Amino acid sequence: MAYKTVNPYNNELVKTFPNATADEIETALSNGQALYKKWRDEPISDRSKILHRIAALLRENETELAKIATIDMGKLLSESIGEVELCAIIADYYADNGEEMLKPTPISSRNTGDAEILHQSTGVLMMVEPWNFPYYQIMRVFAPNFIVGNPMILKHASNTPASAQAFEKIVSEAGAPVGSLTNLFASYDQVSEIIADPRVQGVALTGSKRGGQSVAQTAGKYLKKNSMELGGSDAFVVLSDADVDQAVNLAWRVRMYNAGQVCTSAKRFIVADNLYDEFLEKLKNNFEKLVPGDPMDENTTIAPMNSKRAKEKLQKQIDTAVENGAKVYYGNQPIDLPGQFIQPTILTDIDKDNPEFYDELFGPVAQVFKVSSDQEAIDLANDSELGLGGIVVSKDAQHGHRVAEKIETGMVFVNSFLVSLPELPFGGVKGSGYGRELSQLGLNAFTNEKLVVTA
Ligand code: NAP
Repeated sequence: MAYKTVNPYNNELVKTFPNATADEIETALSNGQALYKKWRDEPISDRSKILHRIAALLRENETELAKIATIDMGKLLSESIGEVELCAIIADYYADNGEEMLKPTPISSRNTGDAEILHQSTGVLMMVEPWNFPYYQIMRVFAPNFIVGNPMILKHASNTPASAQAFEKIVSEAGAPVGSLTNLFASYDQVSEIIADPRVQGVALTGSKRGGQSVAQTAGKYLKKNSMELGGSDAFVVLSDADVDQAVNLAWRVRMYNAGQVCTSAKRFIVADNLYDEFLEKLKNNFEKLVPGDPMDENTTIAPMNSKRAKEKLQKQIDTAVENGAKVYYGNQPIDLPGQFIQPTILTDIDKDNPEFYDELFGPVAQVFKVSSDQEAIDLANDSELGLGGIVVSKDAQHGHRVAEKIETGMVFVNSFLVSLPELPFGGVKGSGYGRELSQLGLNAFTNEKLVVTA
C-alpha cells in the first residue's frame, strides 16, 4: 500500500511517503527495547513532565496541526481543532494522575506476608491506528503507555501519513527520548514482522473488523497481548417519554460529526412509535440545513468523506439498502462538488432481510426504525453483531438508565452525547472488539500486574 495525502475536498495529491525500510524497523525496535530497560529505572515524574510539555506543544501548534489533519482526511477545521485540544487534555490527565494510578495495590490476604500488585511496564508495543481521528487515536494509546513506560511503534492509516509525522514530531520536540514513539510507514507484512519480534510485547489496534481479525490473528500466533477497538453500529434509542426536540438536537449532531465517520456515531435511530413521525421530520429539517464545502471554511457544516474508496463504499451500501426495500426519506442526491461528498441521508423501512440491516454505515447516513415498546427497542438495539456504544433519550433519567443497562455494548450514555474523556474507559463487546483504552483500565491494558508477597 502507498502512504499518501490526497485532499478529500479537491482530490489533490499533496504528498507521497516512502514505505519503511528494514533498517528503520530494526532501529525502531532496538531503540524501543533500550528505552524500555532505561525507563524501568527512571521515575515516572520525569515522563509526566514531558507529557505536560507535549500537551503544551499541542496547544501552541493547534491550528497548524488541525490543518494537517483536515488536509489528510477532510474533517471540518473546527473539529480538527477540537481533536487537538482533546489530545492535550488526555496528555495532561495522565501527566497529572498517571503516577498515582500506578501505585502498588495492596491485597488483604490470609497469607502471613504482605501481598501487593505492582503495575509495571512490559516492553515495546505496536499500535495500528485509523484515519478518522488522526491524533486522538494515537493519544488514546500513547499517553497512558508513555506514563507506564512502554515504548511504542506506530503504523498509522495510509491516508493520514502527514498527521502521523506531525504527532511524532511533537513528541520528539517535547523532549521525549528516542524510541518513545516511532512512526513507521509500514506495510501489512512489516506490521506482522514487528508483532512477531520477541522485543514486542503487545498490540493495540483501532480499525475495522477485517483489519482487527488479521492483526489479532498474528498477535495470537505469537502470543502477544492485544486490544481491539473495532467498528460500531450504535443504537440511538428515543423512548416514548422523550422530548423530541432534545432527541433530535442530539441525533443530527452525533450522526453528522466528522461526516458520520465515528465508530461511536449513532447509526441506527430506534424511535418510539408515538414520536416517530415528528422525530423523522425534525431530523430531516436539521439535515437539510447542512452546508457541504471546503472543510477549511468556517461556513461549511458537512465535510467530505475521507477518501474516494470510503465514499464509493457508502454509496454502494445506500444503493443496496434501497434495492432491497429501504426508503429514502431524505437525501441521496449527488453533490455538485469535486470532493468525496455524500449528501446527508435518512433511510427508513430497513427490514431484517435487507443486507444493510447488519452493516455499519460509516458516513452521513441515518437508519431510522419505529418500535412500539421499550422491549422492542432493546431487542432491536441488541440485534447487531457489534456492541460499541449507544445513546438512550428519555425525560425520565431513571427510565433511560434502566434501558441503558439492557443494551449489549461497552458504553451507553443517557440524554447525552457519547463523549470520550481520559478518565472514561473506551471500548466495546461482541464484534466491536475487546479491551479498553483510557481510564484506569486503559492504563493497565499493557502493564504487568505483578504479585509480590513479602513474608
Ligand atoms: P482499517 O481498514 O481496519 O484500518 C485501520 C488501520 O489498520 C489502518 O492503519 C490500516 O492500514 C490498518 N490495517 C488494516 N488491515 C491491516 C492488516 N492486515 N495488517 C496491518 N494493518 C492493517 O479501518 P478503516 O476501515 O480505515 O476504519 C474504519 C473502521 O474503524 C470502522 O469500522 C470504525 O468503526 C472503526 N473504528 C473503531 C474505533 C474504536 O475505537 N472502536 C475508532 C475509530 C474507528 P491502511 O490504512 O494502510 O490500510
